Amino acid sequence: MSKTPLLTLEEAQARMVADLEPVTGCEDVRIGDALGRILAAPVTSAIAVPGFDNSAMDGYAFAAALAAGRRSLPVTCRSAAGDRPAVLAPGCACRIFTGAPVPQGADTVVIQEACAEENGTVVLPADWSFGSNIRRRGEDIAEGTEILAGGHRLRAQDIGLLAACGRTQVTVRRRLRVRLLTTGNELREPGSGVLAPGQIYDSNRPMLRALLLRLGVEATTGETLPDAFAATRQGLREAAEDADVIVTTGGVSVGEEDYVKKALEEEGSLSLWRVAIKPGKPVAFGRIGKSLFVGLPGNPVSGFVTFALFVRPLLAALAGEIRRTPPTLMARAAFERKKPDNRREFLRGRLHVAADGIPEITCHRQQSSGALSSTVWADGLVDIPAGAAVEKGQWVRFQPFEGLFD
Ligand code: AMP
Ligand code: MG
Repeated sequence: MSKTPLLTLEEAQARMVADLEPVTGCEDVRIGDALGRILAAPVTSAIAVPGFDNSAMDGYAFAAALAAGRRSLPVTCRSAAGDRPAVLAPGCACRIFTGAPVPQGADTVVIQEACAEENGTVVLPADWSFGSNIRRRGEDIAEGTEILAGGHRLRAQDIGLLAACGRTQVTVRRRLRVRLLTTGNELREPGSGVLAPGQIYDSNRPMLRALLLRLGVEATTGETLPDAFAATRQGLREAAEDADVIVTTGGVSVGEEDYVKKALEEEGSLSLWRVAIKPGKPVAFGRIGKSLFVGLPGNPVSGFVTFALFVRPLLAALAGEIRRTPPTLMARAAFERKKPDNRREFLRGRLHVAADGIPEITCHRQQSSGALSSTVWADGLVDIPAGAAVEKGQWVRFQPFEGLFD
């Protein structure tokens, strides 16, 4: 057994991204193709949004000063969305619709439900206030302001905002290339025939590939590496020819059949490999040539959790992404954990609102790192500090999957 002291999660994460330079390549993409891409530079808006004062409601527009003390006004013009701005005669009202330009000379809109229109005259309510129901030019975005920061990962609403500002293209960082390799003599691909005794289907490869694809990474997979030194070395060497990051699963423990760590030490360098978390103690990090290397444990739950804890932040740093720490929340434990673990533990849990209205966490009964069904059942991880027991009713920290993997 190695005597290397265990690193805390934060220490391991910090070491992993220390001195890491983001990839420099950039490309221009159409905004329709930009979902999930990372902005290479801040984006400013060349125009004001809205571009003109417009009505927030269907109603009647008029000049407040000229309507004061009057209950009815002649309706002399009409302004619908898409119309050019009209000019309102003094002391008159304009029939106006949502999104329509406020006519020149008007400064207030009263909603139609509060008015009555008869024979070309609108009867106003007794009370209305100056300037109401108008969306002012530039109130959303002033001309020339920064709308999105460099390093921002584009979501649907960001693409909407880019379009609102008239942008057709943005400059983004190039996609990362990730090579995903699973290891293990026991692994078979689903569809490759009936399992022989001792064999299992490879679940890590499609699962991790899916997590990568969701992040907009170019993910390639190779043949499963056998538990053999020479083949593992060769697999890593080949992967390093092209990949920004090599991710492997399995073979990073200290067992006789664990070759990844040894092969990494021969082909490149190993930076860390034992972290005080459960699941996922054996996590390797290093470099082979120009590629970064992350070796995840083979157990599928461990692979899933350590992907979130290590690979996700690493990809962010390498892609030049400014990623905020995934938000967590506190909830009441509906479970107990009598025996404390000396490692920080991430249990698979589910959040619901209890009968008394308090958010509450239940844990999957099967917390084995091989039992993938717990991750399917769960919607996040319960973060139990090292050495802590949990009593029912105690507050525990919960980390929803969304923030973790996004
Ligand atoms: P290892 O980390 O290689 O010692 O593997 C730990 C456990 O995870 C063993 O039970 C393996 O059979 C299992 N395992 C390793 N790789 C995979 C995989 N790609 N898919 C499913 N299970 C795996
Ligand atoms: Mg193995």
